[in-house]
Amino acid sequence: MNQLIRCKNCDEIFMKTPFDHSPVYIFDPERSLENFRSIETDDYQDFLTHHQGHQLENLNIIEDSFVSRKAYSEPVKASFFKATNGKEKFVIKKFREKIDEPLKYLLIPGDYSLKCSAIEIQSEEISKQFKRELNPPLSQNKIDAFLKLYREIAEDINIKDLERIPEESHYPLEIYYRLDDIHSMFLLRNCRNIFKGQEYSAIEEFIQRHKDDGVLLLKATYEIKLTEMAKPRKKMITASVPFEKDKIAAKK
Ligand SMILES: [Zn+2]
Repeated sequence: MNQLIRCKNCDEIFMKTPFDHSPVYIFDPERSLENFRSIETDDYQDFLTHHQGHQLENLNIIEDSFVSRKAYSEPVKASFFKATNGKEKFVIKKFREKIDEPLKYLLIPGDYSLKCSAIEIQSEEISKQFKRELNPPLSQNKIDAFLKLYREIAEDINIKDLERIPEESHYPLEIYYRLDDIHSMFLLRNCRNIFKGQEYSAIEEFIQRHKDDGVLLLKATYEIKLTEMAKPRKKMITASVPFEKDKIAAKK
């Protein structure tokens, strides 16, 4: 279990992970008997020593608050999440500048919100899927007409009315949404102006097949709006009662 600890005096953050106490093994070819020597790393102990006599408190990470501009799988990046001590909220920036660096945590006074900056249709994927599935194939003109129609419908949609499909995306700020019934009916109705007879039936089936989890999902891109607050003037915190620190230290 990870534990997030804040020093109230310094506004510094420490993320205590189960690995903090595990030794780091280093391969040492010079030593024949034991090729590995272990170095005890105790970053947490360093943190405690550094903030001796200060007031420490546990912060709870606010679920689902994690955001980042880069892919989940990208190791070198900055991401943000929110945490609280029950009274105040904090934004924590978690980052690493090089791949071999440990993660760093920085407390930012302020807040952030996410703003939807674009709603797009998956034009390329839709075209490919049409070509793969429809026989006889659609003419390029008709594919373009469908994409134009769908794009226009997407532009009018309020993203708040749609159902989110979280597992589709590799990027925290790209979220996929399922087209709702009203808009898929509207799409179908307008398809009647483009497609006739057999072709229309094929399109109708195509929309039914793909509106829930496939190429017809709408992609919304969000931006992180970080609102940094000026640091409030540091209150004097008396260090005479360091009971919170003891409480945390006792959990080690
Ligand atoms: Zn401190």
